[in-house]
Amino acid sequence: MVDTKNIRASICKIGKLLYDRDLTDSSGGNISVRDGNYIYINPRRAGHDFQWEIDEDTIIVTDICKMPVIGEVNRISREAATHYYIYQNFPEINSVIHGHPFYMMAFGAAHMDIPPISEGTRAVLGNFPVTNVPEVVPGSIEQAEEIVKNFKKRRELDPGCPLICNIPFHGTFAAGETINDAFLYTEVANNCAKILIYRQSMFGNDPKADFEVHKHFTKEDFKTIEVSKDVCTPGYAYTDVFGRKTVFGSSGSSIGTEFSDISKRVTEEVLRQLKK
Ligand SMILES: [Zn+2]
Repeated sequence: MVDTKNIRASICKIGKLLYDRDLTDSSGGNISVRDGNYIYINPRRAGHDFQWEIDEDTIIVTDICKMPVIGEVNRISREAATHYYIYQNFPEINSVIHGHPFYMMAFGAAHMDIPPISEGTRAVLGNFPVTNVPEVVPGSIEQAEEIVKNFKKRRELDPGCPLICNIPFHGTFAAGETINDAFLYTEVANNCAKILIYRQSMFGNDPKADFEVHKHFTKEDFKTIEVSKDVCTPGYAYTDVFGRKTVFGSSGSSIGTEFSDISKRVTEEVLRQLKK
């Protein structure tokens, strides 16, 4: 579990997860978190020198213009320009992750978009593909500008949508309201790319293969995933936790009612004792 209250620990933990899940490699990857006016960011060469087993104390803290607060500013990740430029352009973004996700990079190495096909990508990232920025020098100001341009375009097409893009022959940038969001966007997009590659290699020549998405769900459809639902139809006969034969939905058979009565009686008794 990522301890998002301990920002420095969360960066170390997510960095290790990225590394262990092939979402980045020893040549790169970097993570930052915004907390109010502070930016927390990993030191450079966290993969190369430490295989992402870095200590919380190595995390560097600055303001939004990279003026140092804690740590050496010249030790900050080499991709810092893109991180800070994203924060300056998207006030609602509180975490940025740059990774080298293996399967997404296969698409980037062909300048191909990644269409959302998995439930994860469609529900989380929306209906628009993850697109590539032009080829840019890693860590450059030009890269920062192109990624912000890509994110703004994405938001024009789908207001409020998650921010993620591919960089040809290099890796990805994802930005979210939390570090968990930015990690999720990276992981689901990489899983989608993986499915596309496996599907093509397994069934690409099979005339029976049907690659079409037959049902396009709306954002409202996906919001219903969050709604708690009844899992039993009235009239279903079963044995309850007290060993009684009962029928779901019949009067007096609801365990929920029974527990709620017990809970109410206990609460009343506690309150009565407290008042003494
Ligand atoms: Zn990189």
